[in-house]
Amino acid sequence: MTQAEAVSRMTDTMAKFVAFTGKRLPDDVRAKIKELAAQEEAPLAKAIYATMDKNQELAWKLNRPSCQDTGAVQFFLKCGTHFPYIDELPELLRNAVIQATKDAPLRHNAVETFDEYNTGKNVGLGIPSLFWEMVPGRDDCEIYTYMAGGGCSLPGRAKVLMPGEGYEGVTKFVLDCMTSYGLNACPPLLVGVGIGTSVEVAALHSKEALLRPIGSHNPNPKAAEMERLLEDGINKIGLGPQGLCGKNSVMGVNIINSARHPSVIGVGVSVGCWSHRRGHIVFDRDLNYTIDSHSEVDF
Ligand code: SF4
Repeated sequence: MTQAEAVSRMTDTMAKFVAFTGKRLPDDVRAKIKELAAQEEAPLAKAIYATMDKNQELAWKLNRPSCQDTGAVQFFLKCGTHFPYIDELPELLRNAVIQATKDAPLRHNAVETFDEYNTGKNVGLGIPSLFWEMVPGRDDCEIYTYMAGGGCSLPGRAKVLMPGEGYEGVTKFVLDCMTSYGLNACPPLLVGVGIGTSVEVAALHSKEALLRPIGSHNPNPKAAEMERLLEDGINKIGLGPQGLCGKNSVMGVNIINSARHPSVIGVGVSVGCWSHRRGHIVFDRDLNYTIDSHSEVDF
């Protein structure tokens, strides 16, 4: 296979994967929605979960996106420094989004700032967003795809707290977000909390936290306990599906943290909605790929 053929093959695979993840939710999200639906007794909450289920069935059957809001496509890469197509990835992923937009089809969502026109292709200056982690010595490439809608994780929040606010301050910030901006996303929600030393690190961690599977826990037992306490607290708000009341508010709370300067604690919150369109695909150097976010794939 020539380099050009390889790039074309990977572009095509990524276009199909982006289009696919737009219509099919990952296994963990589908399982959690079913679990939460089974706990509801109120007729309205049950009816909304039944509608979500029908939405998923029709999206699959009619080959259409599971939500009208494409969001802005984001890619999170863990790329080996020896992956043979590393230099081609930015353009390749941009072309994959253009192709997916036509083929899926996906609603056109990329508007050039200041010039105020929609490109009609879901690409623009800095869109799709690419977040890179280079992995020395590896020759494969892991790619998380994520469609973040205008109501869910795009308008996340982050702040560096004053010395002394501590973990109580983190909790207050998260709960304040959940009782204000968090509701812009369609519940049940996946809440990503980032904790680090500066505002941009906390914000990025909160988005990375949304890539972690539902039901997974932070490896630090104290952080895992905070996840559990926040989940209990936010569930007690009783948002229910689509915010119309119910037993639960969230599919989970995931925390990702890093070390920090002793006098500050940065905290970020990103909120994913029930239509949490996350995918995970891993390419080896020969472009064989595995997908572990979805057990049923139709391309
Ligand atoms: S919050 Fe999610 S489900 Fe609701 S409109 Fe936005 S992308 Fe769609």
